[in-house]
Amino acid sequence: MALAQAAKYASTNSDPRTTDHLLDLITELGSAALEDPDSAEAPLAVGILDEAVQLIEHVISHIAEGSWTLCPCGEDHGQQALDTKVAETMRGDVDLLRQLRAKAA
Ligand SMILES: [Zn+2]
Repeated sequence: MALAQAAKYASTNSDPRTTDHLLDLITELGSAALEDPDSAEAPLAVGILDEAVQLIEHVISHIAEGSWTLCPCGEDHGQQALDTKVAETMRGDVDLLRQLRAKAA
């Protein structure tokens, strides 16, 4: 899931605010999944989806500009290729979240 991956990037690249926010979202999603589907699930889901899209895009833009990497050790050992792949996967998840958002609204 892109959220967990995004949280890992934010943590590795010293952005505790984004890390905390992503972890909160993961927790919210977990508890939302346990709630009764007939309850006030839809409005909660829309808010979560919006936040998830925003945060994942934040992480993608850092990866795209090269400021965030899966391994910021300073050595080049192929992490850039991996970063590109992860960013692509995250973009796919953002598209999916947008589709869910369109249905939920
Ligand atoms: Zn490294």
